[in-house]
Amino acid sequence: MGEYAMREMVLVGHRTLLGEIIRMEEDEATIQVYEDTQGLQIGEPVTGSHESLSVSLGPGLVGGFFDGIGRPLGTLMERQGVYIAPGLNVPQVDPTTEWDLVPVAKVGDMATPGSLLATVQETPLLLHRILTPPGVEGEIVEMAPQGALRSDGIVARVKDPFGHETPIPLVQRWPVRLPRPYRERLLPNEPLVTGQRVIDGLFPIAKGGAAAIPGGFGTGKTVTQHQLAKWSEAQVVVYIGCGERGNEMTDVLEEFPVLEDPRSGRPLMERTILIANTSNMPVAAREASIYTGITLAEYFRDMGYDVALMADSTSRWAEALREISGRLEEIPAEEGFPAYLPTRLAEFYERAGRVVTQGGETGSITIIGAVSPPGGDFTEPVTRHTKRFIRCFWGLDKNLANARHFPAISWLDSYSEYAQEVEDWFSSHVDPRWGSLRDRAREILAEDERIQQIIRLVGEDVLPDDQRLLAFTAFLVKNGYLQQSAFGPDSYSPPEKGFAILDLILHFHEKAAGLVKKGVPLSLLKDGEPVDAITHLRELKAEDKGAFEDLRKRLDAHLDRVGAERTPTREPRPGDAGGDASWR
Ligand code: ADP
Repeated sequence: MGEYAMREMVLVGHRTLLGEIIRMEEDEATIQVYEDTQGLQIGEPVTGSHESLSVSLGPGLVGGFFDGIGRPLGTLMERQGVYIAPGLNVPQVDPTTEWDLVPVAKVGDMATPGSLLATVQETPLLLHRILTPPGVEGEIVEMAPQGALRSDGIVARVKDPFGHETPIPLVQRWPVRLPRPYRERLLPNEPLVTGQRVIDGLFPIAKGGAAAIPGGFGTGKTVTQHQLAKWSEAQVVVYIGCGERGNEMTDVLEEFPVLEDPRSGRPLMERTILIANTSNMPVAAREASIYTGITLAEYFRDMGYDVALMADSTSRWAEALREISGRLEEIPAEEGFPAYLPTRLAEFYERAGRVVTQGGETGSITIIGAVSPPGGDFTEPVTRHTKRFIRCFWGLDKNLANARHFPAISWLDSYSEYAQEVEDWFSSHVDPRWGSLRDRAREILAEDERIQQIIRLVGEDVLPDDQRLLAFTAFLVKNGYLQQSAFGPDSYSPPEKGFAILDLILHFHEKAAGLVKKGVPLSLLKDGEPVDAITHLRELKAEDKGAFEDLRKRLDAHLDRVGAERTPTREPRPGDAGGDASWR
């Protein structure tokens, strides 16, 4: 085994199946083959590639659809039809494609890792920046001219102080298990706006943050991931369909090309990369798919972009680890998962972050991992260990999903440790009262939980009106604000719209609370067309500012009228419960 290395990529058998050396002992090696090994015979040759599992990085990735080891599924299908035979090693990006190169650096300039050499307008949404790769430094002695350059072309040649020349190809290779270097980490204090009210409003995620969406079957993990992939304010989205059903990937493939980016009006695929390793594809490639995805994300981060990476689902990835570990006869730890499960999860989530790149740009990778705990049990190892490495937790609640409250993100179990850090951004970009409204909404939801318990015990009728009002406001928050259908005009809700809805609900609450205190019966306050209209606000468009203002006026008029008619003449005395006199 002298000429081989651990984790080296090898081609196995006459069909050249792609594999990786995962164990070496004296002159024996264990090779993890990423494809179906059926039919492989003793005596077939194995050829080393002298590199570890790597991906090609360059123009042609965006809008693409790849398998777990980075092979373009579109090209494979053109050549092979729907069923892909093993061993077909097609290049990740077609070497013959020509790109319109615009040089930025010139001969004589110094190139340092991350410095900008040239650009290619890869899609109308994405300017691809060709950078000096990590580890390369020196004087540029040759530069490709402006104009067409093939994918397998050379952009520049760099000569180091020792006279050694390094060609810099348009498409570069990078080993997927090695994080790409950056200069420095930054605080995650800018939110990744997702267009989902419950996320942006209550449990925001920062650019460069890491979040987990755990939930049992059918609670909406996939739909939520799709929503985030569609609407997140990222310049590049990497979506990894890892071990999930094939038809879910089909949905993505059918939907994304026809969807428009809400900010630019261009097709979403122009900023999206899809990686699919569905449940019927080889399990080993599933393990690799996560690394392939994050390496692509890092490549675009290095260009100074905000990248969002969705992995659906990390549980299936952990199961792939377990399966491979089992075959290696490693000693299993909790529930059969290998003892290094937490380390692998940490390594993955650690690759998220907002950084200063080697070239001095600011870029970020936000990781959003779905977790599918068996039986919806959040104490199982994958969920539990994931919680240690993420700072944003969107727990999906089976009861909410059953009640068709979507997104079924529980307002009691979920949390975001980024909320404080991104508050300033929302205060200056949306409204200075952002933070206080969020706190108030959460207070009301928490208090409502307590009231609901009492209601379950003794019924609603015995509650004083101020508590019933609180329960009613919580109902408005849940139905008018937190609920958001993924299908329809409300699918994307800019922060301004969410804020306007919440502001109106809380405005109603404060005003009604004042009247209830004066003894005005709640039943009259909450009974009226403007109050009913609150739950329909989410169907409005954010631009429709007039409609929000109009409703506020109607609401005020309604409350003022009821208040004037029904305010009791005597002043309330201490000890008055406040409420509808009819039941007392
Ligand atoms: P999981 O991946 O957790 O098994 P899915 O994401 O497939 O669950 O969601 C199950 C169903 O829940 C979907 O088919 C859809 O009908 C419904 N659903 C989930 N989220 C939403 C949403 N935001 N809006 C409307 N319906 C939703």
